[in-house]
Amino acid sequence: MITERFLFGPGPSNPYPEATAALGLPLLGHLDPAFLEIMDETCEMLRTVWGTDNARTLPISATGSAGMEAAFVNTVHPGDVAVVAVNGLFGKRMCDVASRAGAEVVAVEHDWGQPVDVERVLAAHPAPAIIAAVHAETSTGVRSDIAALGAGKGDALLITDAVTSIAGIELRADDWGIDVGYAGTQKCLGVAPGLAPFTINDRAFARRVERPQSWYLDLGLLGGYVGEASGSGGRTYHHTAPVAMVASLHGGLTRVLEEGLPAVWARHEEAGRLLQDGLEEIGLELFAAKGSRLPELTTVKVPEGVDSAAVRRQLLERHNIEIGAGAGAYASTVWRIGLMGHNARPDAAMLVLAALKEALRR
Ligand code: PLP
Repeated sequence: MITERFLFGPGPSNPYPEATAALGLPLLGHLDPAFLEIMDETCEMLRTVWGTDNARTLPISATGSAGMEAAFVNTVHPGDVAVVAVNGLFGKRMCDVASRAGAEVVAVEHDWGQPVDVERVLAAHPAPAIIAAVHAETSTGVRSDIAALGAGKGDALLITDAVTSIAGIELRADDWGIDVGYAGTQKCLGVAPGLAPFTINDRAFARRVERPQSWYLDLGLLGGYVGEASGSGGRTYHHTAPVAMVASLHGGLTRVLEEGLPAVWARHEEAGRLLQDGLEEIGLELFAAKGSRLPELTTVKVPEGVDSAAVRRQLLERHNIEIGAGAGAYASTVWRIGLMGHNARPDAAMLVLAALKEALRR
């Protein structure tokens, strides 16, 4: 059954219409020259949204977590030390993925809701092979300073999770010293879930694991999959490209770049500010630390005595609005409200605010 809903949760939001329209086009063969052109243009547009010149920038054919996996299996040599900043669920997941890839993980724990403490992370080990952090923690609604990590990383490779930041807030992979980055399509890029925009620079590629444990995510092989755009020269069959998803990503990226990245960032900023100011005006308390709040993902404490699930259900059933529950230990005490991609609009912010006001009788 197809239902029209406003999805304000932290998961897939209402996509950009251009991304949905692309899904309705006739399917091209994955080796059709017309599709290869779409793939090349997609990689080129991904470079722009990543803020990178990296030749090896591509959409990996799986969700954001596969991007995370690709980042670690291709860079962790047995016993390498990986310092991982943990200020939420996805930093935690990075630790698990890194240790499965064979890293000796040094986890730098933070209170949830706080940004990454750059000094503590940089001081956690004298010579790590890898430093890893999440730019925009979707579990807590917090933004961390990746540029400062990049400036202090020394010889380490910097792996960055940009799943919830790409095309929502400022992201400059090259300027900030990001060596390996992965993202997702379903957040601010405003496309359905299913691909992981990925980028790796020459420095990290030169240090890569020659034969990673994952065949599918081996970046040495994936270079051929995207052909010359990857700098590898020539295109070889690796796996069948998910043509509809890539076309949809192409549609979403075209929309974002036509609007212009600074304008897109400003739109997310405005919508998030309207929502956060409005929530405070009705007496609610925001969860993420002041000064580090993401505009695209707002975390708010569930007021004392309010049944979190009942309010979420009311919003869904009465207004077709989905907001997210909290993550981990905060499942019933925090709400997460996403205003991402097509939903990052003042009218959407006001709509969710009005619905919450009604549900809370404020
Ligand atoms: N990293 C962050 C910050 C995320 O928000 C998510 C998903 O929400 C992931 C990683 C994992 O991405 P996916 O669920 O697309 O595999």
